[in-house]
Amino acid sequence: MCHREQPGQPTQQIERKKENLMKKYDVIIVGSGTAGYTVAKACTDADLKVALVEEDVFGGTCALNGCQPKKFFVVQAELIGMAQHLEGKGVVQSPILDWKRTAAFKNEFTDAVPSGSEKSFAGMGVTLYKGSARFVEAGVLEVGDTQLQAESIVLATGARARVLDLPGWEFTRNSNDFLAQPELPASCLFIGGGYIAFEFAHVAAAYGAQVTILDHTNRVLRQFEAELVDAAVEASEAAGISIHTQQVTTGIKRTDGGYLVRCQGGAEYEAEAVYGFAGRVANLEGLNLEALGVSPDSRGLVVDSTMQVEGVPGLYAVGDCARTPALAPVADREALVAATNIAGQSLKMDYSALPSVCFTQPPLASVGLTEEAARNQDLNFEVRRGDMTGWPNQRRIGATHGRYKLLIGEKGQVLGAHILGHEAGDQINLFALAMKGGLKGDAFKEIMWAYPTLTSDTKYMV
Ligand SMILES: Cc1cc2nc3c(=O)[nH]c(=O)nc-3n(C[C@H](O)[C@H](O)[C@H](O)COP(=O)(O)OP(=O)(O)OC[C@H]3O[C@@H](n4cnc5c(N)ncnc54)[C@H](O)[C@@H]3O)c2cc1C
Repeated sequence: MCHREQPGQPTQQIERKKENLMKKYDVIIVGSGTAGYTVAKACTDADLKVALVEEDVFGGTCALNGCQPKKFFVVQAELIGMAQHLEGKGVVQSPILDWKRTAAFKNEFTDAVPSGSEKSFAGMGVTLYKGSARFVEAGVLEVGDTQLQAESIVLATGARARVLDLPGWEFTRNSNDFLAQPELPASCLFIGGGYIAFEFAHVAAAYGAQVTILDHTNRVLRQFEAELVDAAVEASEAAGISIHTQQVTTGIKRTDGGYLVRCQGGAEYEAEAVYGFAGRVANLEGLNLEALGVSPDSRGLVVDSTMQVEGVPGLYAVGDCARTPALAPVADREALVAATNIAGQSLKMDYSALPSVCFTQPPLASVGLTEEAARNQDLNFEVRRGDMTGWPNQRRIGATHGRYKLLIGEKGQVLGAHILGHEAGDQINLFALAMKGGLKGDAFKEIMWAYPTLTSDTKYMV
């Protein structure tokens, strides 16, 4: 179980710097996020001697600045969406959200993470070093004046918000800032149309801000199925979010009331706060990977199926610092794969049937191939698509947007599933299970699902 769900356990001292001493371990982990935690747990369970280096507070992105804190705001935005859809249908008045109070509620969770995380590592018997890790040579890391040596080193250093080289970028706030802001600005402009921008846009709109998204390409949410993205854009616009594509930002200027964003072609947009959501880059620079003959790349380290960095035996990269999908469950699985191989057993990484969700209102969820990807692979398949808003489960909640699209292969197998709808994230997990377990689409019709539930609606999709 990863620490983001279960922090806690006994205390432990952090090793103080001891000058010019070489400390030896079986495994050194760099980074205390969900990937670092999972490696530590699996390696200590296998009785390996483990050290972990962390340069910031313990806990990592998911628990402190990502999945977990974000959902405190997302669930309240969901509440507003539901209430608005049911206004006049029994709901007399929509609730009013209070950013400050939600932030305080969220902080109760996040404030406890660093100490809980540190205690968890201590409970496992991991020796902790506070500072930035840097390679001296293969198998040897330096933290301050202390040198650490191990046969296996696992990089779990994560990623951070990309900084664009354009005038005024210093005025932008990033996703950490969005989640930490004590008050929500009256108008928010997001540069970048990826999943974080869309999720935060829906949150900000539900809390009453005027929201604008600018994307430099002609398609937002590019990793999702195009047809459903169009429906998600419609739902977003209906929620009051203004979306502009093919807007290449050229500069940001301070104004009396906030900031002015200039784009190629002359378009200008104003907002009280501007957020830069131009993707994320792997945290690799400070590690002196050059000493091992590795050139760091912002897209992350290239790894093999055991999570070893190509060309460097004994060096592993897991989670967001590897060039693999940047999602928490992926980080956890990669960490387990690395630890299992370090402990002398064989386990390979498999990225098939990987579900993902963009927590818009309603959420957009996806697993497997998009239609474009299936066509590029020359696969034979049938498309099943539909609008769910007429279905009883959707009517009851007053849903105005709800669509699905399935790709069913020639043997009846699910090749891809894409859903825009209330609790689509939970529905998509079922399709992931079916794909992983080799269940055919028809299996969804054979099960007598508990009824009426959103799960039971999956049988109408296949
Ligand atoms: C806003 C946001 C929302 C997200 N929402 C979701 C979601 O809904 N679902 C989902 O699956 N994923 C989501 N993610 C992605 C998810 O958070 C990451 O995939 C996951 O947290 C990566 O974990 P990690 O352990 O690889 O890295 P991290 O948790 O980032 O940990 C890396 C750690 O390494 C430390 N470190 C870095 N360099 C060094 C060094 N040289 N020396 C010592 N320490 C170092 C850092 O300080 C950090 O603590 C979201 C991300 C963001 C930003």
